[in-house]
Amino acid sequence: MADCIFCRIAAGQEPCVRVWETDRVLAFLDIAPVHYGHTLVIPKAHYDTLLDLPDELWLEMGRVCRRVAQALREALFARGFNIGMNNFEAAGQVVFHAHLHVIPRFLSDGLHFFPQGRYLPGDMEKVGQRLREALAREGA
Ligand code: AMP
Ligand code: ZN
Repeated sequence: MADCIFCRIAAGQEPCVRVWETDRVLAFLDIAPVHYGHTLVIPKAHYDTLLDLPDELWLEMGRVCRRVAQALREALFARGFNIGMNNFEAAGQVVFHAHLHVIPRFLSDGLHFFPQGRYLPGDMEKVGQRLREALAREGA
């Protein structure tokens, strides 16, 4: 897609700090890192979200994430890492070219990504039931 920043990066038409690539996947540094080394893993071809990605490509992105994560531990002494993916506007997706964030983490770095809550009595089982029904309909 001509107007997609990540397509332009994948095509070499926009600069990026590349860290790894395969024929179909590119890993490069996020321009606004949570921590130094925060890396984005993208398919070179355009897909809007995870729901559009072919299974094989999703698997390859996962493999690249794992290599990048290992490199973050070795080269930048990250003690852990988060893999994140924002899908659709409600989840904070800004660039609609599917991408995974690999975020290096350090002990006591003070980051808490998601505040957690509690179910009201009985709701947990109802929510599980609705999801099971949807999954059965999809044949997933
Ligand atoms: P999101 O769609 O919310 O997952 O966020 C998109 C991510 O892409 C943000 O973390 C941005 O900092 C990053 N980003 C946007 N443009 C560039 C760019 N030209 N080079 C590197 N990272 C970018
Ligand atoms: Zn794109």
